[in-house]
Amino acid sequence: MKIAVLLGAPGTGKGTQAKRLIPFGFKHYSTGDMLRQAIKEGSALGKEADRIIHKGELVPDPLMIQLIETTFAPLPKDTKVLLDGFPRTVPQAEALDNKPNTRVALALNFKVPEGHLIKRLTGRRTCKNCGSTFHVDFMAPQKEGRCDKCGSELVQREDDKAGVVQKRLDVFYKQTAPLIEYYNKQGVLKHINADREADEVEAELLEIFKPWSK
Ligand code: AMP
Repeated sequence: MKIAVLLGAPGTGKGTQAKRLIPFGFKHYSTGDMLRQAIKEGSALGKEADRIIHKGELVPDPLMIQLIETTFAPLPKDTKVLLDGFPRTVPQAEALDNKPNTRVALALNFKVPEGHLIKRLTGRRTCKNCGSTFHVDFMAPQKEGRCDKCGSELVQREDDKAGVVQKRLDVFYKQTAPLIEYYNKQGVLKHINADREADEVEAELLEIFKPWSK
């Protein structure tokens, strides 16, 4: 597989960009979306994740590693993967490295000044049905409170509420930010200025991924 990891704090637009790249032949895997789906379905993983996500903490590594291994197992060897929200800890990154077919080809560090992230996260609204995301100021839906894609209700994720957002950012800087150096050492790191219009970020990503289409 050819794997690009989307690194960066919550609210830097990783999911928005990954979804935009799907038409260019990428598979997008968001572990946050997968966990929210498991919560909806009420599975054992969903029950465990529900308690943790609400607090802004991380789901234990063994559960996450197993989730990713199960997801990747059936994929054809030439799949181009955008991994969004995984790895979030060094042990998760090592789990990818320890398998011959899941070494990371590119790690993109989405950068947004910390002061802007709180506004980006607390203003985010998510479609209850299809998971599309909007923003009350920066990416408002055509009809207030309704998803442009499927018309369902837009809600604020529990963990996008002000109290939890700061905790998620703290967890990011403590547990996930070390991955920036981890991938830098491997020579696969690239910084992305994500504090721009989504179209500009997308244009840069398409340029970066040009060699992948050969
Ligand atoms: P996200 O949608 O990526 O912001 O993820 C939402 C929440 O899901 C996170 O705050 C964590 O509680 C949990 N989560 C998602 N991915 C991971 C992961 N790779 N490791 C641990 N927890 C995760």
